[in-house]
Amino acid sequence: MKTKHYIGLIIVLVGTNLVTFSITRHWMKQHVLTPAQERIDGYVKVSAQACLENLRQIDAAKEMWALENNKQKGDVPMESDLKKYIPRDVLLPGQSFPVCPLHGFYTIGPVGIDPTCSVPGHAISVTR
Ligand SMILES: [Zn+2]
Repeated sequence: MKTKHYIGLIIVLVGTNLVTFSITRHWMKQHVLTPAQERIDGYVKVSAQACLENLRQIDAAKEMWALENNKQKGDVPMESDLKKYIPRDVLLPGQSFPVCPLHGFYTIGPVGIDPTCSVPGHAISVTR
């Protein structure tokens, strides 16, 4: 008779724990996991936008470098060639050249070809 009570108690405890676990998991998903994922998604989106702005500045700098130095399509400038054409206000303190917010690697490339970032999704649109 006593053992039966214990078994009943254990079943109630396990059941309560399962319900608690399920409620906790639901709460975590609603209040912790989803907002965190949304913040990450938001940061990725904002970073891609900031990187696109950098690529546009690099592209504009390439055009100005080509114009001022009588360069042709296919000529490749160095980062040091472009620094003076990058507006100071697009740079963070201490920077002399734009840096990808997700630490992608920029390839300046030849005049007439868009500069690229090594992070997937960071690119000047092909439909510009
Ligand atoms: Zn990038």
